[in-house]
Amino acid sequence: MKVTILDSESSVLNKFIGEIRDVTIQKDAMRFRRNIERIGEIITYELSKTLEFNSVNVATPLGTKRVQTPQKDIVICSILRAGLPLHNGILNYFDDAENAFISAYRKYISENEFEIKVEYFASPDLTNKVLILADPMLATGRSLVSVYEGLKQNGTPKEIHIACVIASTEGIDYIKNYFPENTKLWVATVDDKLNEHGYIVPGLGDAGDLAFGKKL
Ligand code: URA
Repeated sequence: MKVTILDSESSVLNKFIGEIRDVTIQKDAMRFRRNIERIGEIITYELSKTLEFNSVNVATPLGTKRVQTPQKDIVICSILRAGLPLHNGILNYFDDAENAFISAYRKYISENEFEIKVEYFASPDLTNKVLILADPMLATGRSLVSVYEGLKQNGTPKEIHIACVIASTEGIDYIKNYFPENTKLWVATVDDKLNEHGYIVPGLGDAGDLAFGKKL
């Protein structure tokens, strides 16, 4: 798996990452969602550099110019519900992409033990397409792997990209064992630790709650 970590360069991305982490700023749910979306846009821009492009002629009012347009066989898949703002950011740039939505949640067996439950599943055919999996918080990696296992019934993509906002080192090491070798992981930033509840530390807290409110 090729891992690209985007915060190692100084750019405006680092400001957006700072704002989603900051306890005083992250309380503003609209700003939190928009910052995740903006990070999704930046990841998409970087990822787009690795795609195939087609050359087409465009007519301007004064002549014609050959321009590059990205391939159209892209499917964006996100895990409900926290993945939605990141999904939107990716879709903002890949306007023609198809979309898949899968629900995965942690069903706690005891205080610190959980299993991943996948329930809602809506995905187009993935055969020979470019699959982009949007998972804002790659913590243990177990939800992402469960979702990927479920997606296999819908065909084999020609390439897979994983887009994450914050990943844990442990999560990255875990998913490497389940995805094809040529999978590309794009992550805005990486944190070293997971706590006993499988949350990323320092991370940002619960991305789904911050974007959409607390759930029971
Ligand atoms: N999901 C989150 O929202 N945050 C984490 O730290 C881990 C999983």
